[in-house]
Amino acid sequence: MNLDLSPDELAFRDEVRAFLAANLPPELREAGSRTTSVFTDKTWSIPWQKILHAKGWVAPSWPKQYGGTGWSDMQRYIWSAECARAGTPGLAPMGLRMVGPCIMRYGTEAQKAHYLPRILSGEDYWCQGYSEPGSGSDLASLQLRATSDGDDYVLNGSKIWTTHAHFANRMFLLARTKFEGKPQAGITFLLLDMHSPGITVKPIITLAGEHEVNQVFFDDVRVPKANRLGEENDGWTVAKYLLEFERGGGSGAGLKVSLGRIRELAAQEMSDIGGRLIDDEAFATKLATASVLVEAIEMTEHRVMSALSAGKNPGPASSMLKMQGTEAMQKLDELAIEAVGAYAAVDQPAARQPGSNVGPIGPSKGMLAMARYLNNRAASIYGGSNEIQRDIIARLVLGL
Ligand SMILES: Cc1cc2nc3c(=O)[nH]c(=O)nc-3n(C[C@H](O)[C@H](O)[C@H](O)COP(=O)(O)OP(=O)(O)OC[C@H]3O[C@@H](n4cnc5c(N)ncnc54)[C@H](O)[C@@H]3O)c2cc1C
Repeated sequence: MNLDLSPDELAFRDEVRAFLAANLPPELREAGSRTTSVFTDKTWSIPWQKILHAKGWVAPSWPKQYGGTGWSDMQRYIWSAECARAGTPGLAPMGLRMVGPCIMRYGTEAQKAHYLPRILSGEDYWCQGYSEPGSGSDLASLQLRATSDGDDYVLNGSKIWTTHAHFANRMFLLARTKFEGKPQAGITFLLLDMHSPGITVKPIITLAGEHEVNQVFFDDVRVPKANRLGEENDGWTVAKYLLEFERGGGSGAGLKVSLGRIRELAAQEMSDIGGRLIDDEAFATKLATASVLVEAIEMTEHRVMSALSAGKNPGPASSMLKMQGTEAMQKLDELAIEAVGAYAAVDQPAARQPGSNVGPIGPSKGMLAMARYLNNRAASIYGGSNEIQRDIIARLVLGL
């Protein structure tokens, strides 16, 4: 991307840098650098969200009328690049990036007035109830039953892989309201209070030893019909719209930070290889190839951001970004593992604790490489697997 900044943009960048220097507390910076997956723990993301909310900078991609910043594409790029550079904790995407835009587009005025401010402030913490034990890629086959009963729907069934359901007080979900006919035409999109009676959240511990995802069980859970987004049996329209926002938003700036971290690690003398990995031609070539890929991702990201700021949905560009971004992330994780050598050998949960400093490479760099590698294997699966993204690109871009 051409980053010749105009004087106004340079002034904006300096304003952002000054804000981050003054307002990002060291403990949140450390939490950001220790994050081993795309989701920062709520303990750290919400305090940061509140700081941004107080400044009015929490939702740069939202239209100004709903609390967005009114920034240009370039300003938003500068913002995300500076956040990555400063190591800010990530903000949970389920409210700000996923259900928020859907409420703006499909919500009633009452739903907009109720939910949007609570998403901005972090008062509501959302999780996403799409996948079920038998329905992932083939999402339209979902079976969570919503039976009409007066002013409510009554939910019975289960959702799985629900990220941060154990933190959330809200879930947006897809439920089946019609069992006959085309599967897509019997789905309804609902906004659920997670404190409703009849909900059980069971943890699923990942390969990296972390509790991020859950299975959620519904046993006669009542949801008022007033909490439906869009029409009954037309939830598929909302669901597809949301997925474009879910897929978008990969960060070239974040990948650049990872690249910088790997370069730094590879430039250290390593006794086990008797020199510096960066001087190894094969490794240097892999690193250079990854840098080119990251540049290409920034171009795609720019297209997605332009679409979002013009109030459009990003279309198949979000599938490209999701695919390129997650594959680059995984390539970088492999290089990081190579760069830290023996320090990547085992998962070391202690390294995630603030204040720990284990080994000469340092906790946030060396010891977390394996946890990041393991967590990011899931990146090419969640949000629609990369095989499914390739299918979308084949149909919508190549016309196959
Ligand atoms: C860490 C993590 C977090 C998640 N968080 C959430 C969440 O918060 N909320 C939520 O609702 N879901 C979540 N998911 C679920 C995720 O969206 C699904 O795992 C994903 O859609 C794949 O579905 P599946 O696991 O059922 O795999 P399947 O659909 O069974 O796919 C298995 C394999 O077959 C391939 N495949 C399937 N169909 C095709 C096809 N037509 N063409 C080519 N290949 C195909 C897939 O690419 C995959 O490799 C999460 C998943 C993970 C791993």
